[in-house]
Amino acid sequence: MDSTPASLPDSISADAWSSAEHRDVVIVGTGPAGFTAAIYTARAGLAPLVMQGPAPGGQLTTTTDVENFPGFPDGIMGPELMEKMQAQAERFGAELRWGSVTHVDLSRRPFKLVVDEEVPVLAETVIISTGASAKYLGLENEKRLLGRGVSACATCDGAFFRSEEIAIVGGGDTAMEEALFLTRFASTVHLLHRRDTFRASKIMQERVMAHPKIRVHTNTAVDDVLGDLGVTALKLRDTVTGETRELPVTGFFVAIGHEPNTALLRGWLDMDDAGYLRTQADSSATNIPGVFACGDAQDHVYRQAITAAGTGCMAAIDAERYLAEHGVVEGVRTETEYHAAPAEDSTDGVPVVEKLAS
Ligand code: NDP
Repeated sequence: MDSTPASLPDSISADAWSSAEHRDVVIVGTGPAGFTAAIYTARAGLAPLVMQGPAPGGQLTTTTDVENFPGFPDGIMGPELMEKMQAQAERFGAELRWGSVTHVDLSRRPFKLVVDEEVPVLAETVIISTGASAKYLGLENEKRLLGRGVSACATCDGAFFRSEEIAIVGGGDTAMEEALFLTRFASTVHLLHRRDTFRASKIMQERVMAHPKIRVHTNTAVDDVLGDLGVTALKLRDTVTGETRELPVTGFFVAIGHEPNTALLRGWLDMDDAGYLRTQADSSATNIPGVFACGDAQDHVYRQAITAAGTGCMAAIDAERYLAEHGVVEGVRTETEYHAAPAEDSTDGVPVVEKLAS
């Protein structure tokens, strides 16, 4: 993996940098981590700039029911949860902006960020919450037929395959969960896994094995996706005997894990071999002081909306403390101080401290 940082575009002149917008906090990415960081830093009076990124709202916008996010006993739809988080961040003064950070220079403060290849922004602290994206097998035809029968999101696209025969590849919990979800629509779901043992939890495996609509094919690799305008079949290979065969299907779902969206930070921030950002123990601090990381870009273990939100809160508090300690801003209000904030800072004019007491 090349670890030389990409340089900034030459098209941005020194003059453009000297008159560039200058923020105390820039949050890069808007999943549960980014929005939580936005809520906290906004409440601390830091008016964060939040760059939406290429997939605003993150992975939860491609899910349906979220049943395990505390506070919603009847569940909530993923996109609605993200809309609520966004509204909460904006209510306290976070500024959401369309666009993606395409280049960074983290060599000194203020850090230099470039939005959409051309807009310079300076930041005293940066919170990285760029999340993760689905992995693909890397086959040429898989790419060509993406959106034409190939998908990495069962909850987004499953309904297109009513009463059809489809396949899903993967042996982890995601593949199991999505295979079960797809049985709501498809006539048969073929689950294809390259080995004969699964990574998925036992309970998920048992549910899949017992489902009458799911056929499990172990020791099976997908060598090609066939079809002209849409998927018509898969070319499969037995990983033990090497024998190949075709499986006629009209849909092909890929559920082989995720990779962190951290290419932008390569050469700047410490990351593991898979690209997950390394943070210090009990902190969201990266190897560069003033740059903090949270959510799925940094966490390959838990990968839950609630843990992403939790680390987003950590990153916000770490950024607040950093700004105060370095004298960049004075009087950063911590959450405790927020409650004692004057009436004019409360949305309805009633001091927060009074509302808490009532
Ligand atoms: P995992 O990394 O757990 O599993 C990925 C699967 O894809 C593995 O079986 C792997 O095979 C297979 N795979 C990877 N690359 C390829 C490839 N190139 N070709 C063929 N197969 C490939 O990812 P998941 O997304 O399933 O899960 C990630 C984490 O999220 C886990 O900790 C999981 O428990 C958690 N999760 C929990 C859920 C829940 O509790 N409800 C739901 C979904 C996820 P191999 O095993 O051979 O390496």
